[in-house]
Amino acid sequence: MSDTKGKLRKYKIVFLGDQSVGKTSLITRFMYDTFDEQYAATIGIDFLLKTVYLEDNQTIRLQLWDTAGQERFRLLIPSYIRDSHVAVVCYDISNKRSFANLDKWISDVRLERGDEVLVVVVGTKSDLSNKRQVTSEEAEALCSRVGGAFFVETSTKANHNIKQLFKRIAQNLSGSS
Ligand code: GDP
Ligand code: MG
Repeated sequence: MSDTKGKLRKYKIVFLGDQSVGKTSLITRFMYDTFDEQYAATIGIDFLLKTVYLEDNQTIRLQLWDTAGQERFRLLIPSYIRDSHVAVVCYDISNKRSFANLDKWISDVRLERGDEVLVVVVGTKSDLSNKRQVTSEEAEALCSRVGGAFFVETSTKANHNIKQLFKRIAQNLSGSS
């Protein structure tokens, strides 16, 4: 599909959250439609590109930035967040601590980008609902408190809400420009 205006709009999306909440898995599922239980490493490259076609014939390019383990080296995070258009802040619904830590991740984002960035709150591993430690109401409340664009629960394992997550991000981006 060609873009008649000649120029594809590009957006940088960063994925933040504690180690092992499932950021790399989420990106991998969206990019390659796979899920690997054993796959615990990071992608190990700077970013992946995905072209998204919207219903109104618009095309946008998403640059997905995974953290190559930088979650453990917080000093590196501000440079990673720089120039981002979207920050997807992730917690694991079966891990209360990862949810409690969202405030820190979001304040890193606001410090670096202020209101120039769309914050999306994602509760991962929704297939683990029998081990749930965070309700969707709590997360919804946090999302509105921090001025987030929207909140969604996903399961990379069950392939639940992954496409919808990126579609909503794309819609928010195209609506706001
Ligand atoms: P990251 O450190 O945030 O990049 O997390 P990873 O993507 O490496 O995932 C950490 C672990 O959680 C891995 O063992 C994954 O297989 C597992 N995991 C990721 N997503 C899901 C999910 O949706 N459901 C379940 N049950 N496990 C998941
Ligand atoms: Mg990772």
